[in-house]
Amino acid sequence: MSIDIRNISKRFGNFVALDNINLDIASGELLALLGPSGCGKTTLLRIIAGLETADAGQILFHGEDTTDKHVSERQVGFVFQHYALFRHMTVFENVAFGLRVRPKQTRPSESEIKRKVHELLELVQLDWLADRYPAQLSGGQRQRIALARALAVEPKVLLLDEPFGALDTKVRKELRRWLRRLHDEVHLTSIFVTHDQEEALEVADRVVVLNKGHIEQVGTPEQVYDTPASPFVYQFLGDVNLFHSRVHQGWAEVGKGRIAAPGAPDAPAIIYVRPHEIDLSRVASGDALHGEINHIRILGATIRLEVDVEGHDAVEVELSRERYSEGGWQVGETVFLTPRTVQVYTPQA
Ligand code: ATP
Repeated sequence: MSIDIRNISKRFGNFVALDNINLDIASGELLALLGPSGCGKTTLLRIIAGLETADAGQILFHGEDTTDKHVSERQVGFVFQHYALFRHMTVFENVAFGLRVRPKQTRPSESEIKRKVHELLELVQLDWLADRYPAQLSGGQRQRIALARALAVEPKVLLLDEPFGALDTKVRKELRRWLRRLHDEVHLTSIFVTHDQEEALEVADRVVVLNKGHIEQVGTPEQVYDTPASPFVYQFLGDVNLFHSRVHQGWAEVGKGRIAAPGAPDAPAIIYVRPHEIDLSRVASGDALHGEINHIRILGATIRLEVDVEGHDAVEVELSRERYSEGGWQVGETVFLTPRTVQVYTPQA
């Protein structure tokens, strides 16, 4: 089922929660709505579901306007961050619930329900837990059961609101890979809300970056990460160093050094450099930025060096463990920094 979002706006009192949102979602796509807290992700998801009404605009399902369609007619399945399973029902009964409450004419037979529930439990790889109660499951298992329950009624669209938000990092990582595989099997048009950029980039076919009720950028994970459309997207998608400078003939001066900004117009500029896109050396080259290491943090597989750069605040440099050991870097020593890849924004150009 394709979904077209046309000119959707929503206010709460004077507060604009969504400002003219336009978005086409292809049938079978897995889309991430990504943005900081309060940017309108959940509100948009609720409007698509029919749980909230927009002040203006339309939502089309497969080309058909849903405005007057009740949530129960939209054939959407939900999974929320805290999806309370029915505590007094077994896993099997939880998944069967949506089938059992159907009107008599469309209700499957008992043997059909049994077959279907086991099929779904196999899909989420938890058939062996069918007789347990929710309290006897881990958080990750509960969310997988919640997903099986959402899928039981054969929705045309699956909506997930921070489905793994309440789980610890390791389980989250497992579950997002698992969600991607599941989606590749089922191919259901799915939209999931997250504020975690890593999650969005890893799981989604396309990522929608929202900020203060409007869309900053829509694109594949590669597009939004490699060619961010705005400073906001750049900063939201990963750690970044900002250099406020002025571009003159393709160079931006920082202290005694300078950063190459080929093609950028002559104007005041903000230059963005990711910590892992900086080369570090003990040998001064013509253009490198001069600095002194003031702090070293071991983050596991990577190492972060904080370098005080002349004419600038501290700059974060990320090295692999290998490069860090090879270099033998110490706090207090003088170093020279050369950014490999930069993004230049010239607000006034
Ligand atoms: P989070 O990640 O924190 O859940 P979000 O991006 O999902 O954030 P929304 O829940 O969509 O954000 O809310 C968007 C904005 O609208 C927020 O500033 C919120 O305070 C406001 N808002 C949401 N629902 C209501 C409501 N019923 N009444 C008033 N304001 C609301």
